[in-house]
Order: sequence, then C-alpha cells, then structure tokens
Amino acid sequence: MNKSRRLTVEVIFFIFLLGVLYFVVPDGDESFWPKGRVDVDSGNRLVMGTFARIIAVTIDSDTANNCVEAAFEELKRIDELMSDYKSDSELSEVNRDGFEREVKVSEALFDVLKRSVAYSRETGGAFDITVGPLVDLGRWAEEKGEAVGEEEILRARERVGFEKLELDEMKRTVRFSVEGMRLDLGGIAKGYAIDNAIETMQGLGAIGGMVDVGGDIRCFGAPPEGKRLWLVGLQDPHEGGDVVGAGKLLLVLRLANSAIATSGDYRRFSVIGGKRYSHIIDTRTGRASEGLSSVTIIAKEATLVDALATAVSVLGAQKGLELIERQKGVEGVLITSGPKYEVLKSSGVGKYIE
Ligand code: ADP
Ligand code: MG
Repeated sequence: MNKSRRLTVEVIFFIFLLGVLYFVVPDGDESFWPKGRVDVDSGNRLVMGTFARIIAVTIDSDTANNCVEAAFEELKRIDELMSDYKSDSELSEVNRDGFEREVKVSEALFDVLKRSVAYSRETGGAFDITVGPLVDLGRWAEEKGEAVGEEEILRARERVGFEKLELDEMKRTVRFSVEGMRLDLGGIAKGYAIDNAIETMQGLGAIGGMVDVGGDIRCFGAPPEGKRLWLVGLQDPHEGGDVVGAGKLLLVLRLANSAIATSGDYRRFSVIGGKRYSHIIDTRTGRASEGLSSVTIIAKEATLVDALATAVSVLGAQKGLELIERQKGVEGVLITSGPKYEVLKSSGVGKYIE
C-alpha cells in the first residue's frame, strides 16, 4: 500500500486570530517570542516509509539548518534500528535470533521495548508489539484474497503476547520465550523518532519547532515569525478521498508543546472478500480491530500518543475513552465507523480546539 496515503493530519499555520484568547500557556502570545526569529522548513522528505517534515525556529539561519538536518539524521537513525523492512536493522536481528539467544540491543531500542511493554500493561494488552505473527497472517490473507481461519489465528496467537517477551534491564538484552515470535514497532517507532528529533533540535538551540512523520506530529516553543501558534488541522476521514489536504477539515487544534497522532482504518486497510480490515489487530482475539474509523490522541509526547492511538483503536469507543480519561494530560477525538460516523471527544479536548 502506498505509505503516503497514511498522512492523515495536515499542518497549517495560524495566521490571524479573532476573538478571545484563552491561553493558559504563554506560547500563544506573539509578544512572548523574540522578534526577528528565523525558520527553516525541510518540506516533505521520505523517511520511515512515509513523508516527514521538519521545521526549526531559531535566532539565526545556520542554527535552523543544523537543527533540521540533525533532526532528520535522528529520524533515519531510529528507522535503521527499528525498521522491520530493513533486514540489517537491530529489530530484524532480534526477530531473527531472539529465540536462539539473548540479543544485546541499543539503548534506544531497549527503551522502546520497555515502554511498549509498559503500554501493554496500561492498556490491558490492547497495545502489543508482539503482534508480528498476526500481521503476517493478515498480509498472507490479503495476498490470497481469503479471510483468515480460526485455526490459523489460534496457532499464530501461541507466538503472540507481550508476556512472552523477556527484557533484561541490567544486560540490556531481549529474548523470546516462544519460537517464531516477531516484534512489530509500526505502532510506536514513528512517535519515538519524533520525540528524539524534537529533543535533538532543542539540544542544538532551536527555540521552536515541529516534526511531522506520516501525520504524527509534535511541536514546541515559538512558531515561525508572523504566526502566533502551531495549529494542526484534522482531516475529516470521510471527505476528500486519498488526497492529503483535499478533504474537509473536521477540527483545527492548537498544539503548544504537545504531540498528536491519528490511527485509523480509513487510509490503511486491506479488502478481503469485499470486507475492509484494519491494519491494527487485537492480539487478544487475533482479529482486526473494528468499530472506530479514526482515533486522534493529544498529549505531551509523541511516543505516548502514537501507542495510545493504536491502543484506543483496538479498545473501541467506550473502553478507549475510559482509558483516555484515566490518563492525566491525555485527550482524544474518536470517530466511529459508518454508517453514523459519530465524533466523540474526551472531556478536556476543548482546550486544544481552535
Ligand atoms: P499508522 O502506522 O497508520 O500511523 P498506527 O500507529 O496505529 O498506525 O500503527 C499501526 C501499526 O502498528 C500496524 O501497521 C502494525 O504494524 C502495528 N500494530 C497492529 N496492531 C497492533 C497492536 N495491537 N499493538 C501494537 N502495534 C500494532
Ligand atoms: Mg500508533
């Protein structure tokens, strides 16, 4: 599937604000930021199997250029560690050898694995990176054009489950307790890469910036000169077809120092026997998740929102909203599947809506 179709959220800049400002954060106030700041916009570049865009806001243009290039290097570094398409990635090594031996991994990969297991616990197993064998089964079914049988799902599920993943913090090693397990970081690696790229820019002296990888976005600090805010437009999943930016905007969200991720079955799915299947799988049943056509999560960090958007897609509207409400500093906008396409919002999301 064309990965560029995964772009679901389009960044737009705020130009003019009418009416009342009810900002809690000072970031929205133009006078708060230094005048004469410069920004460098990378434009869209291919990385991590999708398009990425980086903007750095600084006091001088050399620093801005440095920030953008260093942030891209960081995205590439994470991709090289965590891609399951690249056979020489660290993740591929784990998937190849993880049952035979303990595999020593980088701090970055270990960190992602540790956080993934923590998210599995927090979400009652809805988020689970050991989903690999079920993803493979889904791909195989798509190629053959046949729905997956119950028997095959049962067999694949024997090799799935985060409790079968052994992490040794002291040695920084990973091991599989069952043969044939396969880790898939598709639900978290982009978010992790975004957080790292943002930290890279901050470390190099950016006073503001934005990193967008495939529609998952994090912004911080000063927006470009002449703009007051970082705004993100959320596309209506049922309008505009496949062209990014062509759809109607459902909502415009203000993102001062926060991250946003959207998961959904409306851009990435497979069709088998006329039925549409999400690429997100409930490992507890082995079946593609159903019920929500799009889940958008907002919080401070991109790693968290990426993982939670995937988890809430699995949990469905009711349990998903409960999870969002339980987590401090996390908000969400959920759109149910047809024919009703209801838009459900978490209780605190209003403070982000423009
Ligand atoms: P997108 O890649 O469209 O941004 P997500 O962030 O929701 O969407 O990630 C979906 C990907 O995560 C799938 O393509 C698959 O690689 C992986 N995945 C599928 N089901 C799960 C799950 N239950 N938990 C964690 N990752 C999953
Ligand atoms: Mg995700």
